Amino acid sequence: MAKVVVNHHRCEGKKTCAQVCPEAVFVIRKSDVVLPLLARLKVWAHGGKQAFVVNEAACTACMKCVEVCPEDAITVTL
Ligand code: SF4
Repeated sequence: MAKVVVNHHRCEGKKTCAQVCPEAVFVIRKSDVVLPLLARLKVWAHGGKQAFVVNEAACTACMKCVEVCPEDAITVTL
């Protein structure tokens, strides 16, 4: 089974992962992650939302999310 990790220190909630994932692995929602000030400001500037992995078991490791994330915030490992 693939392991999907979102680095919340980088994620700005731009939704590209959720849009390209054919397996609905991600949800974009208000973030409750405790972050350093700069990262918090970046998240706030994009509506306070970030990507969260909610359906990891469905991941097929197609790597589409990794390719499109503008912040290089996602890693998928087998
Ligand atoms: S690797 Fe593919 S299936 Fe897995 S989370 Fe990313 S886009 Fe979805």
